[in-house]
Amino acid sequence: MKRSQRDDVIVIGAGTAGLTAAIRLAEAGASVRVVARGIGSTHLAPGTIDVLGYAPGGEARVPVRSPAAAVAQLAADRPDHPYALVGAEVVAEAVAWLREAAANGPLPGYRYAGELERNLMLPTAVGALKPSALVPETFAAGDAAELGRVCVIGIAALRDFYPQLCAANLRAAGIDAHAASIELVLERADASMLGLARRFDDATWRASFCALLAPLVRAADHVGLPATLGLSDPHAVLSELERRLGRRVFEIPSLPPSVPGMRLYEILRQRLRAAGGRIALGASIVSHQRQGERIASVDAATAGSETTYSADAFVLASGGFHSGAIALDSHWVTRELVLGLPLQGLPAASEPRFVAAYGAEQPLARVGVAVDRELRATGAANVVVAGASLPGAVPWHEGSGEGIALASGYRAAQVVAAELGAGIGAAA
Ligand SMILES: Cc1cc2nc3c(=O)[nH]c(=O)nc-3n(C[C@H](O)[C@H](O)[C@H](O)COP(=O)(O)OP(=O)(O)OC[C@H]3O[C@@H](n4cnc5c(N)ncnc54)[C@H](O)[C@@H]3O)c2cc1C
Repeated sequence: MKRSQRDDVIVIGAGTAGLTAAIRLAEAGASVRVVARGIGSTHLAPGTIDVLGYAPGGEARVPVRSPAAAVAQLAADRPDHPYALVGAEVVAEAVAWLREAAANGPLPGYRYAGELERNLMLPTAVGALKPSALVPETFAAGDAAELGRVCVIGIAALRDFYPQLCAANLRAAGIDAHAASIELVLERADASMLGLARRFDDATWRASFCALLAPLVRAADHVGLPATLGLSDPHAVLSELERRLGRRVFEIPSLPPSVPGMRLYEILRQRLRAAGGRIALGASIVSHQRQGERIASVDAATAGSETTYSADAFVLASGGFHSGAIALDSHWVTRELVLGLPLQGLPAASEPRFVAAYGAEQPLARVGVAVDRELRATGAANVVVAGASLPGAVPWHEGSGEGIALASGYRAAQVVAAELGAGIGAAA
């Protein structure tokens, strides 16, 4: 049987962009439902908010020192970039909002550190230094500007993290780093990032881990561990490790599932629920109905049933190529698959779709749903677009993916709320 639901706003996508837009709208009084095929990139990405890591343009990746200044410059230089549409002030507001959401979220004491005036330079799993503006507090002591002697700790049973490789590359970057491994007997289910994070949530296990760790870190003043320091109370785990070891401790992001990304998802999910918003996961949009220039409703297929969701406004935050919301088909035609909207930033028919040079900007990199200056989709007046669905950016090259998702989700909510105005809450 086909069911139907009505809300003021349907947000398509449960990544950072969609959840941010949904929370802001629910807190403004709208009845909001997030409809998503699955979780977004939070569980894959490191959980940092990379606002702008590298100077746009040019082959070489030159790290940005001050994202605040560089975003303002980018917005002035590239009028089609998402940051130009959103505006530098909204980027700053959105970053401040996320910091507040984390500090008052479900994980006691857990905060985001960093500021827009200076990127932190944090080790990745392979020991490269990566610029990030806003990071979980559990990452902050890894900032290269503060690092002294570092001991990178691996866990022998954990196959996704290689401390020797990480330490060797940190040494190549001029950091005094060495590696050590802990031999732990782990159940097969615990020998993963997520499994270990669950173990760290257990105070007794933590104490015995510290007893094994302490003799390994004697010469170091900083200790780097794979990002597994607990899911439910990472602040307590970090504090306890630093107290027991007498050293600064930091997490190093590694392969998915991303534990810090899962914490970020949980912060946003619980905030949305507290504001009265709802989430339907496992619901893939398969068709939609139009009334002239407006989308009236979307149909979502879930296991065994179909639901029609109608609303006055829609936020399209379904991601881009990486989430399957935009695809290049076997006839070399690129399409937006969720609402069939026109795209922007496509190479001409005669131009190549791919270039071979490693690291070069790909011709399809800037493709996204065509929008006006207020993020409204071309040809669908009540659809506002956010996140990786937007055209004009090369997030992988710029180090801007989560920053764009956060700021454009925040801006999309402002646009929709202004449009709904007195109508907010009408469907509740
Ligand atoms: C492995 C990985 C590592 C990354 N590392 C970084 C990093 O270090 N720094 C950084 O800044 N960024 C990073 N990113 C990029 C960043 O995570 C994304 O740019 C950002 O999360 C995009 O967020 P979003 O909300 O726009 O989309 P997403 O998080 O991709 O969410 C898209 C949502 O839309 C839903 N959806 C798609 N199609 C449909 C449909 N038909 N029906 C219903 N729902 C649908 C999906 O299920 C999902 O919920 C990384 C991404 C990945 C995948």
